[in-house]
Amino acid sequence: MTMKDSYGRKIQYLRLSVTDLCNYRCIYCMPESGVIKKRHGDMLSIEEMTGIVRAAHRLGVNKVRLTGGEPLVRRGIVSLCRNIKAIDNAIELGITTNGSLLAPMAGILKEARVDRLNISLDSLNPDTFSKITRGGDVRDVADGIKAAQNAGFDNIKINCVLLNGINDKELFEMISLTREHPVHVRFIELMPLGVAKEWDSSRFMTTASAEKYLQNAELLRIDGVARVYGFPGYKGTIGLICPMSHSFCPSCNKIRVTADGKLKPCLHSDQEIDLKGLSGEKLEQAIRDGIMQKPESHRFGLAGSATGRNMNEIGG
Ligand code: SAM
Ligand code: SF4
Repeated sequence: MTMKDSYGRKIQYLRLSVTDLCNYRCIYCMPESGVIKKRHGDMLSIEEMTGIVRAAHRLGVNKVRLTGGEPLVRRGIVSLCRNIKAIDNAIELGITTNGSLLAPMAGILKEARVDRLNISLDSLNPDTFSKITRGGDVRDVADGIKAAQNAGFDNIKINCVLLNGINDKELFEMISLTREHPVHVRFIELMPLGVAKEWDSSRFMTTASAEKYLQNAELLRIDGVARVYGFPGYKGTIGLICPMSHSFCPSCNKIRVTADGKLKPCLHSDQEIDLKGLSGEKLEQAIRDGIMQKPESHRFGLAGSATGRNMNEIGG
């Protein structure tokens, strides 16, 4: 079965935040002081997350992305991956990670049948990377990417959030990664959500800043929310994702669940449906309700998203 929302959109994609904790403190995502650790019992257990995926799958979800916070700091993450693939191996299972803890885990995630990895990397420059992540070492991420390639992940996406005045001089260098490496570099517009809501508008830039380097590239396809380009002879591709300059709402096929079990029908709304403690028909009905409550579109601009949460709680 496939479930449609009240605007006729097929909902097939679940983004599940497995923790709001993270070993980084990216300047646009988390407060410098980090987050107050919630009570263990208030967070979804691995069994509850598995139950939510099972119920969502019964309603037509066939693509699941585990995110966070940093999903690789969540104890039990590998078991969760195995559980999801045991529900149905055809579920496309992805993880979005900062990559810093990936090197020792890539092989085991491959064995657990994770299909895809998206790795966030906003700068190749060690100082800029450390500034953005508040202390991260870019070499850890590079090691993570290499380990993932060696483990057999062949469709790695590198997510780069556009930060004017911070990484704007590096876009050509990021694009050049695709010459020798079979990776898909995606430039993503910064959204005014959580801590980034307080940011000065001069920090925001559109994907047009990357497009200017793509004049000799070929537009290969429109892939969901991304426009995908490639240079002849290059091993990788480049994607532009523009939630600010173009609305994705008409083609939105997602629901999100936070690590404390709240289903968010829309990333930018403060509307939430509590799934914690539900099972069986009640859980399925709550997910159905959430899908039917998806708004037609969000209406935020630089004024900011209506959600009161930071991105580390929602998962992107
Ligand atoms: N820790 C993992 C990571 O960094 O990949 C997963 C969670 S993180 C919240 C998911 C994605 O959201 C990252 O690629 C991050 O760059 C992006 N992100 C966080 N805050 C954002 C914002 N305000 N606008 C756009 N993207 C944002
Ligand atoms: Fe952590 Fe990812 Fe947020 Fe950076 S973007 S603070 S790595 S959750």
